[in-house]
Amino acid sequence: MQALGDYEATLCEHCGLPRDVCHARDMENRVKVGAPSRCHVTTALLRAQDGRARSNEAIAKKAGGATNAGAYDRALSWGFTILEPT
Ligand SMILES: [Zn+2]
Repeated sequence: MQALGDYEATLCEHCGLPRDVCHARDMENRVKVGAPSRCHVTTALLRAQDGRARSNEAIAKKAGGATNAGAYDRALSWGFTILEPT
């Protein structure tokens, strides 16, 4: 596990490549960025999390602000199921 941690410490926190590659001087102006593609799983998770946040806001509003709804939502683990194509 230490070896994995040592390796991960060499990776760039922005792009995930080894830092000695993406931070190398000769890399400047040599990177072409392609069109983005969407991660549909992350999109679905973000939508669900936004929905929960709106629900928490509604609960707090209804309670006059005296609620801890959503206080620890950052600790939630979100799962997902991939449905069969329709
Ligand atoms: Zn990088």
